[in-house]
Amino acid sequence: MSINKGPSGLESQVNGNSLPGKKGREGDELRFETKLLHFGGEIDRATGASSVPIYQASTFHHEDIFNPPLHDYSRSGNPTRQALEDYIALLEGGARGFAYASGMAAISSSFMLLSAGDHMIVTEDVYGGTYRLLTSILSRMGIESTFVDMTDLDQVKAALKPNTKAVYMETPSNPTLKITDIGAVTDWAKEHGLLTLLDNTFMTPFYQRPIEFGVDIVIHSATKFLGGHSDVLAGLAVARTQELGDQLKQLQNGLGTVLGVQDSWLLMRGMKTLSTRMAHSEQSAAKLAAWLQGRSDIKQVYYPGLLSHPGREVHEKQSSGYGAVISFDVGSGERAKEVLNHVKLPLVAVSLGAVESILSYPTMMSHAAMGEKVRHERGITDGLLRFSVGLEDVDDLIADLDHAFAASHEVPR
Ligand SMILES: *Cc1c(COP(=O)(O)O)cnc(C)c1O
Repeated sequence: MSINKGPSGLESQVNGNSLPGKKGREGDELRFETKLLHFGGEIDRATGASSVPIYQASTFHHEDIFNPPLHDYSRSGNPTRQALEDYIALLEGGARGFAYASGMAAISSSFMLLSAGDHMIVTEDVYGGTYRLLTSILSRMGIESTFVDMTDLDQVKAALKPNTKAVYMETPSNPTLKITDIGAVTDWAKEHGLLTLLDNTFMTPFYQRPIEFGVDIVIHSATKFLGGHSDVLAGLAVARTQELGDQLKQLQNGLGTVLGVQDSWLLMRGMKTLSTRMAHSEQSAAKLAAWLQGRSDIKQVYYPGLLSHPGREVHEKQSSGYGAVISFDVGSGERAKEVLNHVKLPLVAVSLGAVESILSYPTMMSHAAMGEKVRHERGITDGLLRFSVGLEDVDDLIADLDHAFAASHEVPR
């Protein structure tokens, strides 16, 4: 892929001519970390400015009515948002990218590819908001879904119906970090002509590029690791083919679910440091997970990097790292609440994937809407906490948790 042009010709669309110093790289395939900084939108070629300008405009002047400007209205296209869209398409290795007002806007807009009467197979431990969208909104519109344990391909196959149109994956899943074999599911889906979608929020393209395994649409809550600073709400989608990209474009414009230009700029600002942030957080996460696993007062630790993780082998086939999210069971709901009240460093909040560590309590936060029975069936026990490891010194994080564990009363196993 040519970096000067980007997947949809950013350079020609935004800046016209290129800077002399930036020539000569056309056609070279750069490594991922380099692409993060040299994605085609890193320099405003009109002025040489070191970042994409924020085109704070809703509409564009038609100088010559017979020869309209490239962008004519910002819902349909804006150069700042376009730079971000080309950026994520390049990173995921897809034909075309799209930026939305939130992760849920990216997901709901993508689901609009389906029609009334269609059926979808969905991973059972899908993000809570996606579960709500499917079961309380799309169900009203005649789009039905079956939830299956996607770590078991037989369950996926058994859910096939004559009207099945799509398969929706999330790996590692939230919060128990179960692993779906992306290639196995997409191979089977293709045999049946099904569209495949994957929420890649936890891994980001730094560790996992699902399009390389045949996925048709990759989705992100860019609010998390891509933005990385808990200061912007955004969603992204990347289409594997130009044709699918054209369909997503029509939906994004028709639904009006676009991301604003300030947030588009802020997101690109955050994404430039993705590799460094992910690598640092992952290193700390590995140390923290091992420390947690070694404690007798922690019932269970979920992290794909642990040798004991049942999905580790499959995960290593499709990802180059294990990420920065760890879940662990402190034994009871009572103790979980005490730990939450005693920790001093992490943000106690919904969300993940930021420079600061974030500790959340799925039972009362992200998965509160799920009934207790379903929650327990999916391993989301009352003692389960989810830790998104940030950039603090890991020894400080461990000391903080150690103190919180000691202060909270241990429940006999
Ligand atoms: C947060 C999240 C979403 C939803 O994204 P928003 O930006 O909050 O709308 C979707 N999927 C996953 C895995 C998430 O963590």
